[in-house]
Amino acid sequence: MKRIAVLTSGGDASGMNAAVRAVTRSALAQGWEVFGVRNGYAGLLADAFEPLAARDVGGIIQRGGTILGSARCPQFAEPAGRAQALAHLAAHGIDALVVVGGNGSQSGSASLAREGFPVVGVPSTIDNDLYGNDVSIGADTAINVTLEAIDRLRTTASSHHRAFLVETMGRNCGYIALMAGIGGGAEVIAIPESEVEAPEVAERLRAAYRRGKSHALVVVAEGAKHGVQALLKLYGEQRASIGFDLRLTRLGHVVRGGVPSAVDRVLATRLGAAAVDSLAGNRHGVLVGMQRGEITATSLSEITGRMRPADTALVELARVLAM
Ligand code: ADP
Repeated sequence: MKRIAVLTSGGDASGMNAAVRAVTRSALAQGWEVFGVRNGYAGLLADAFEPLAARDVGGIIQRGGTILGSARCPQFAEPAGRAQALAHLAAHGIDALVVVGGNGSQSGSASLAREGFPVVGVPSTIDNDLYGNDVSIGADTAINVTLEAIDRLRTTASSHHRAFLVETMGRNCGYIALMAGIGGGAEVIAIPESEVEAPEVAERLRAAYRRGKSHALVVVAEGAKHGVQALLKLYGEQRASIGFDLRLTRLGHVVRGGVPSAVDRVLATRLGAAAVDSLAGNRHGVLVGMQRGEITATSLSEITGRMRPADTALVELARVLAM
């Protein structure tokens, strides 16, 4: 390798900057040149490349979001769009590309790899849905922000004998809801991988009220099929028999932003460096990851179309501990 490019793609995640810094400086340490691509795959199509030097990635390790910008780019999923991207990569003499992004972005990496371009993926998404990696960059920060919100809601819930329904982000993956629900001592956790129907949630809240609880928290992942609407409707009908008042808080994008946690900064640094190590060893067409505390590399063709399985035993643990 002599010249590589790095981009951040898809939903932004706290820690992406630490990954860009690690990729850039690890590559410079190899004696390579580094180019940053603006706005993910859209920048490959728009020919938005710029050289990155060590100072260009200074002072960004503690910043959320991504200095390179991110975007969604449907044209890249089409062969014609990728042909244009490949032409721009060739015109700049780029030997390999590092893609920092989530599930969709790594499907894009897999397409490039299939078409013969050397690419290494770095898992970065608050959803934490990537196969071949335990925890993606950004997930820890998102859980901590969610948890802080849950802790704050709990104090107001206690004061008013209320139940709070907290909807978390995460697309089709319940990881944030599960971890924040466990960490926040939720009465009910509803995730796509382990659905709880509205009547069951209502029953558990009713039982919690009868046991003398001063508050109750229900954490629902945005991707749960029996989402917050079904519960609110049922609650409207059964409010009198349940006991608690119910209020809804949708956390939305707020959990994506802000200062990356220590865990995300260290993870992003290690995975960014691992991506460059992989390229230095001429191993590409892979997603670098951290599994059971070890750096791993999984073929992009193997991860495409798959999702990291949830630890549903934790849902049951939360139910038992909500006594
Ligand atoms: P994330 O990476 O956070 O999951 P998206 O799912 O929005 O975000 O994907 C980001 C971008 O990756 C898309 O806008 C598109 O450019 C590219 N992409 C997604 N799926 C594919 C695919 N199957 N083939 C090629 N590119 C894809």
